[in-house]
Amino acid sequence: MNLILESAPTTELFDSFVVPNYARFPLMIERGEGAWVWDEAGRKYLDFGAGIAVCSIGHCHPRVVEAMSRQLGLLVHASNLYYTRPQGLLARKLVELVGLAGKIFFCNSGAEANEALYKLARKFGNETVPAPPGHTVGELTEQQRSRRQIITFTGSFHGRTLAGIAATGQEKVKKGFEPMVEGFTHVPFNDAPALLGAMDGDIAAVLLEPVQGESGIHPASADFLRTVRSICDDYGVLLMFDEVQCGLGRTGEWCGWRSIAPEVTPDAISWAKGIAGGFPLGAIWVRDRPLTLKSGGTVSLADLLGPGTHGTTFGGTPLVCAGALEVLRIIEEEGLLENARRLGTYAKEALIELGSPLIAAVRGLGLMLGIELVADFAARAGAGARAPSLWLVDRLHEAGMLTIPAGTHTIRWLPPLNVTREEVAQAVDILAAVLEKAV
Ligand code: PLP
Repeated sequence: MNLILESAPTTELFDSFVVPNYARFPLMIERGEGAWVWDEAGRKYLDFGAGIAVCSIGHCHPRVVEAMSRQLGLLVHASNLYYTRPQGLLARKLVELVGLAGKIFFCNSGAEANEALYKLARKFGNETVPAPPGHTVGELTEQQRSRRQIITFTGSFHGRTLAGIAATGQEKVKKGFEPMVEGFTHVPFNDAPALLGAMDGDIAAVLLEPVQGESGIHPASADFLRTVRSICDDYGVLLMFDEVQCGLGRTGEWCGWRSIAPEVTPDAISWAKGIAGGFPLGAIWVRDRPLTLKSGGTVSLADLLGPGTHGTTFGGTPLVCAGALEVLRIIEEEGLLENARRLGTYAKEALIELGSPLIAAVRGLGLMLGIELVADFAARAGAGARAPSLWLVDRLHEAGMLTIPAGTHTIRWLPPLNVTREEVAQAVDILAAVLEKAV
């Protein structure tokens, strides 16, 4: 074992002691305030990644620091064997924001929130009578049918657990981890006829990101969302939205899908990332909807994950719930949904107006923007063998700005929802200068 002193550079500590599963950029981030972070050398960066859509109200918002400090001195953790008030209050708030009767389960991350959705779908498919009654698919009778498949979409990302990579519609996350967890079928995104073609008696649920994030910010079309809902109704299967990245204000609405097709109602939603402004928290909302049990009697979908069926030690601690409650109140009281819509439009227009020959498209909703680079970017900009998105993210770091790559040709802008117009203008100027130098 090498002798590495405590005073060794941060990169050396990582090289020696941290599993190398992340391809990290050579930046040592030390502190943050609002939409800005500073590295160990004291250099300042405009943070348009916000920890991949996590720091929804910027870094170290004084109200969150205060609320969490207060809770820190009162009670950090008590176990889910007991009741704690901040968890109850946060659940109430989230149900109110969805605006439909339902209940919340808390966990610690997006992958875990989606695991809860998969388990909800399995229980639904195994233990409840398919609805609508009288609708038979294939040869099976209503009572015989156990529905065990979940349909997800190509280009999707649902997390890095074993079931998460099986659910994810991208081969690269599965490689080396075979065999895959059974029960997931992928269908092309935004392709309703393909979904219809994949429906059979074995489907329990359809899971989709209303705006695909990791694959480069691809919103579902309104028609697609409406048709998916009606297909799910026809076949009596659950419609579940993964709003881990696009939810809770990112698109300019509390519910990301409402930026696209507000009238569509899902049966379940997963959240994480921005929910607690940077503290680890995941959650699902489950709709209050009556179901018939195969064993007899009825149950609400919201109560299907009953006592003993699911759980996690840390889910919904008083500390994280107090922080998340304050984050959601700030978004509400500071008008940050409106800010996300207004500045998202402003950013999109300003980026298009640049007319850069290196930008192929600007996509997105609210402050969830994807800037797609032209196919021959590497040749035009002299980016060499490095993926154009990574090359550009590196150049933007040098210019004092953080952004997030998506695939080989897209960079994402996911700034805090309380970013200012001046900061957005500054970001546009930084990108413009870097692109100008590149051509
Ligand atoms: N779902 C979506 C849409 C995501 O974007 C992510 C993370 O990027 C996840 C799930 C996984 O979340 P986590 O990294 O918190 O497990």
